[in-house]
Amino acid sequence: MQRIIVAVDGFSSCGKSTIAKQLAQHANYTYIDTGAMYRAVGLWARRHGYIVNGIVDEDSVKENIKDLKLHFERLADGSQHIFIDKEDVEHIIRSLSASNDASLVSTLPFVRQRMVAMQQQMGADKGIVMDGRDIGTVVFPHAELKLFVTASPEVRAKRRYQELISKGEQTNYQNVLQAIEERDYRDTHRKESPLVQAPDAILIDNSDMTREQQNMKVLELFNQALLLTEQENRQE
Ligand code: C5P
Repeated sequence: MQRIIVAVDGFSSCGKSTIAKQLAQHANYTYIDTGAMYRAVGLWARRHGYIVNGIVDEDSVKENIKDLKLHFERLADGSQHIFIDKEDVEHIIRSLSASNDASLVSTLPFVRQRMVAMQQQMGADKGIVMDGRDIGTVVFPHAELKLFVTASPEVRAKRRYQELISKGEQTNYQNVLQAIEERDYRDTHRKESPLVQAPDAILIDNSDMTREQQNMKVLELFNQALLLTEQENRQE
């Protein structure tokens, strides 16, 4: 059966991963959370003392990143976790400080090149749903379906705040909103692969959408892309 690549890009905390995971489950595709990869790089850099007071020691990261071994494992419950060597860091990388570290290291070109090469390898056989910031623009510019997901900063901050509180993290809404706005700015203004909507990506603004409406829309787009790809392949 025809298998395609689905690229899901967009701002932080806009529900990209929910869309990508559900679609991957529906289609029986592999789901890859590329944000987790940058978060793991951030965690690794902080643990090694390469990030101090929000400043990254770029030379040390560049020199030592070859020693960083990242991989994903699918656990018995079906969830996908990221590992540094043999350590499951899936939960540690979800804190607010880890988000900021990820955003810092993700501006470094040599970090991006390494991550992009790994991501392209993971999608070599298609049948993949990958979410991130540069999937439709850099990693898979020829993806058969590209979605660009967004919601207002306030809606995203509210969702993220509730998520953090439910995990027992001490924070307040204003801090979360500020962190989201700072991250948006960094993600859209960095020199290397800034977050932009690919010209052929379909915009999904879910500020006022229910989960069900969003799911239906995504499934419809997926089925259309699959059909179109099948037709194109038949014509070749
Ligand atoms: O998606 P998530 O919020 O987990 O991503 C964490 C950070 O990693 C983002 O703020 C962004 O700076 C970076 N990132 C990126 N490119 C990707 C995925 C994430 O630069 N493809």
